[in-house]
Amino acid sequence: MIQIERPERFTKAAERLTREHHGIRRHEPHLYEVTNKTKVSRCHVRTERRSGRAFGSCACPAGLRHGQRPPVCKHLAAVVIYLRALRAMRQRAAQRAH
Ligand SMILES: [Zn+2]
Repeated sequence: MIQIERPERFTKAAERLTREHHGIRRHEPHLYEVTNKTKVSRCHVRTERRSGRAFGSCACPAGLRHGQRPPVCKHLAAVVIYLRALRAMRQRAAQRAH
């Protein structure tokens, strides 16, 4: 599990994402399926909230490099960005309603 806190950690992964075209589908609350449309790979990302903090984990074997997983893989970044965009959209809609 990686704590999702600093947005700048996701910026680099996000830049890669805009080039690669990912699709995100929600399987169940807190479980997302990320598909890479160009390479036809599929990953499951799980998110979790513990005492007000957001955590996320991805089960991708492709992210392994030198026997270590990168701190934030692109799948997890994709879900974080997706959830942020969703939240921003909801906030804007709520503001309009007032
Ligand atoms: Zn991954």
